Amino acid sequence: MAAAPTLSQAAKLRVSSGVFSCPRHCGLGVQRLAFRSASSQCADLGFRLVQQSIACGASTSSTRGVVSMAGSGKFFVGGNWKCNGTKESIAKLVSELNSAKLESDVDVVVSPPFVYLDQVIGSISNGIEVSGQNSWIGKGGAFTGEISAEQLSDIGCKWVIHGHSERRHILGEANDFIGKKSAYALEKGLGVIACVGEKLEEREAGKTFDVVFEQLKAFAEAISGWDNVVIAYEPVWAIGTGKVATPQQAQEVHAAIRKWLTDNASTEVASKTRIIYGGSVNGANSSELAKQADIDGFLVGGASLKGAEFATIINSVTAKKVTV
Ligand code: PEP
Repeated sequence: MAAAPTLSQAAKLRVSSGVFSCPRHCGLGVQRLAFRSASSQCADLGFRLVQQSIACGASTSSTRGVVSMAGSGKFFVGGNWKCNGTKESIAKLVSELNSAKLESDVDVVVSPPFVYLDQVIGSISNGIEVSGQNSWIGKGGAFTGEISAEQLSDIGCKWVIHGHSERRHILGEANDFIGKKSAYALEKGLGVIACVGEKLEEREAGKTFDVVFEQLKAFAEAISGWDNVVIAYEPVWAIGTGKVATPQQAQEVHAAIRKWLTDNASTEVASKTRIIYGGSVNGANSSELAKQADIDGFLVGGASLKGAEFATIINSVTAKKVTV
């Protein structure tokens, strides 16, 4: 009988995402035992490993196990409403979200425009938290047009989005500025949704990892830890274009980000930090994306403005729940 893996072996299973090939085609007895043991030890630590079955390529009808959740954090889905909505349309959207049937094991956060934050905070339920779309680099004062982290906290926001590509590339926010804003917001008790992602020409020039790692480094240099940070990988070419990354393209970058966290923070940080995907996610493509081992949720723009579709995306967490 195979010995149960040690905790460090279990941790390795957790962070080394992907297919664990069966030793002799479908040596499933050993595979399953190893996964169960890993799962139960991780569960003791509050970790969650989920498996799904896929057909083994061998000429037999057996299956082999795939760990479909490399990270140990709870699935996280954010809705970035950007500069959209009116009092009336937002009331309707909130009412749709309040009455939607949502899976319980998902952290759901919506991010309305600043002027509607108070309205949403006062009317949203269903366990949904609220995020600002930006916050100032430090304490408030004579900074016309800015909102401070303290003010977001004061009205009941729990999160803020930083580094969104629209702020990087339309408003010219630089890596170090974004890092400092996040450090301040974290210090003031907000969670940060830290966005990173490459432009099309950077992807085509083979620079995706360089760009993403540089953006991550700027966050890392400013903040004192990754607790309360959710990393959103949002390829710029996929945002608002209807051109979603394939599950494989997204998984490749998510796995690289997790490896970067292992190398530059720790194995524990790599496992615990949620890495969510954003870029033309909708109700039709979210399940396939959610099945990828290193995709821990989504940041959704356009489709988050439709209550029923956003609920479908939230509930795509069930794609991770298929067991061997
Ligand atoms: C976003 O702006 O964060 C985003 C992912 O937008 P969309 O879903 O519309 O591509």
